[in-house]
Amino acid sequence: MEKFFSDLRQTVSGAVKKSGELIELTKAKMAANDTKTAIKNEFVKLGELAYLAAKGEENPATDAEALVYKIDELKETLAEQEAKIAELGGKKICADCGKMVAGDSAFCPACGNSMESVD
Ligand SMILES: [Zn+2]
Repeated sequence: MEKFFSDLRQTVSGAVKKSGELIELTKAKMAANDTKTAIKNEFVKLGELAYLAAKGEENPATDAEALVYKIDELKETLAEQEAKIAELGGKKICADCGKMVAGDSAFCPACGNSMESVD
């Protein structure tokens, strides 16, 4: 009976840990989606500036630069978020092509890059 309860306790704590990881993973995916939406919004703003510039209605030089800077920042955030998603899902990100690869892969199936060099 003792063993039954210790097994049960282990199963329960394992399940709690699993669901905690799942929540973390869901949160990370949602955060990454928010970042992707933010990047799209910045691209739309940049497109509007390009449109106005093409029509000669405005000189958007400074604003465009700020938007490019913001997009780069968001892309960095997204890369961090995607690395976290990969880690939570037991996967790795290929340093060469950026594809998500199974955690136990020795090579990237997309580009053949060695996954051993990635920490
Ligand atoms: Zn690759």
